[in-house]
Amino acid sequence: MARPKSEACNEPHDGASLMGMYDTINVPCPNCGKTAEFQTKSGPCNLDVYDLYNVPVDVLMDVNRHAPATCAACGTLFEVKFRVAVMEARSVIVARDAGSKGTS
Ligand SMILES: [Zn+2]
Repeated sequence: MARPKSEACNEPHDGASLMGMYDTINVPCPNCGKTAEFQTKSGPCNLDVYDLYNVPVDVLMDVNRHAPATCAACGTLFEVKFRVAVMEARSVIVARDAGSKGTS
């Protein structure tokens, strides 16, 4: 399913109210391995569920919005540390203003 990836969920689009919408990233507890659900609002917020290791970067960016999480099984507090090595490039074509010659 194609969808715009650059829209944050706080930006209403298509006239739909996105109040309360988010995506979920499943993160295993570092102590016992039980999966905890981390809610993120930095991506499309279509209530999609992702695995931590194949989540899109835009969704991952907000993974710690409610961190630290408490493991339901063992009580361990944990959060996600991540480093973004490669950002997706996006290009937009814009028409030059014919009346503006710029500085060159
Ligand atoms: Zn645990």
